[in-house]
Amino acid sequence: MNALRGFDPKSVRRGSLAGVLGLGRSGQSVARLLLKKGFKVLGSDSRSKAELAPALKGLARMIKWEWSGHSERLLKCAFVVKSPGLKTNLLIFKKLAEKGIPVYSELEIALAYSKAKAVVAITGTNGKSTTTRLAWEIFKAGLPRGRKALLGGNIGIPLSAIAPSSKAADVIVLECSSYQLEDSAHFEPRAAAILNITADHLDHHGSMAAYLAAKAKVFREQGPGDACVFNADDPTVYKLSRECPSERLYFGAKGVNVHAWEEGGRLRFRLPGSKKEAALVPPKLPGRHNLENAMAAGLLALARGLGPAAIQKAFKAFKGVEHRLEPCGPARGIACVNDSKATNVDSTVVALKAHESGGKRLLLILGGLHKGSPYTPLKPWIEKTVKGILTIGSAARRIEEDLSGLAPIFPCGNLATAVETALKIAAKGDTLLLSPACASFDQFQDFEDRGRRFKALVAAAAKSR
Ligand code: ADP
Repeated sequence: MNALRGFDPKSVRRGSLAGVLGLGRSGQSVARLLLKKGFKVLGSDSRSKAELAPALKGLARMIKWEWSGHSERLLKCAFVVKSPGLKTNLLIFKKLAEKGIPVYSELEIALAYSKAKAVVAITGTNGKSTTTRLAWEIFKAGLPRGRKALLGGNIGIPLSAIAPSSKAADVIVLECSSYQLEDSAHFEPRAAAILNITADHLDHHGSMAAYLAAKAKVFREQGPGDACVFNADDPTVYKLSRECPSERLYFGAKGVNVHAWEEGGRLRFRLPGSKKEAALVPPKLPGRHNLENAMAAGLLALARGLGPAAIQKAFKAFKGVEHRLEPCGPARGIACVNDSKATNVDSTVVALKAHESGGKRLLLILGGLHKGSPYTPLKPWIEKTVKGILTIGSAARRIEEDLSGLAPIFPCGNLATAVETALKIAAKGDTLLLSPACASFDQFQDFEDRGRRFKALVAAAAKSR
């Protein structure tokens, strides 16, 4: 069965014009794919010509492109591919709809050209990348010779760059953001997972209901023989799971209807109707949240018929993902942790929870670009775990107001000053944690740039005694 029925290449004449709205990483990748498939491409982006031209590199000579907005030239296209970040209420989408020009997601186009039909899709507010990468490691370990596991999606590898060269027996392990799901009319993965749902990206989706509707698309089109994995301990996810038409698998605290749980230091798995229980040593990663990610990845593999040996092998080898509670340092005897990927308050709560047993030994770097939610949910965790707060970036004032009186606050402005100040005030046994609860774009290119800069500062401090 085709994973997607939205875009049918056979229904569009070769050589016709395809529009690509948004020329970021996935937009450029899908533009290249469409060129290869014989279409002419018109790219359209809101960035200025000066910004866009260097980003496009060689592609600039291969496609027609426009900048600083989306013109009516797009109305000449046979179909349009929408980049996930773009808001659906842009005027151009209204005009395209009026003209009956179909709009597809990059996922839909990529899967239409994919030979591999088995898609394993992971979504959730937090933990997607970690779970996707771990699931990929399990599939790599467990698929028989000649069958490959391919990694792609929101994880930074556009699906359109990998799916078209896949083989029929391969498995695509796909990280899906709510944006990508929202834009996909038809998406039917063989196995899916929803890790957790908290309010995030509401500025984009407009309401919690719309955000939930986007997440639910991961299972909406599934059928018998498919499975979806849910977090039984997350009330929002649990409630949503009742709408799922495929087999439901749950992870969480041990209970009647839970198929993966933690007990006695082991992760235990038992599929519905099976008497066999597997007890596996979890990956060596900090925090309860990573046990949840591992349970989700394990259930996805079991749902696709892989055995516990492959799961155990991958658990054992898995070292986590860069910028997610990634140990670095020590610098001047102080342990350092790069959690630059914590771009919202919930992720920082998770990072503090993971350090709960250590007492008040954290020097916490917070700040960056404010995303709109208050920092007050951090309060109880700061009281338990944080010895000093170092603020950076444009959100600093708001953070200082929201968190005053809980721990000494050191306004530092930038990351270099924050690392230097933290190492000065740190005592042996403390940990310096970058878990900023903010986006990075005020001072860095992206969260990866911020994390790498942090590690470089830590490495330099380690050398300077
Ligand atoms: P995503 O791709 O969804 O952003 P990541 O795996 O990159 O998820 O992790 C992002 C941040 O979310 C990390 O900093 C981590 O602290 C936190 N996190 C990871 N897994 C979970 C989880 N299962 N539940 C809650 N938070 C998590």
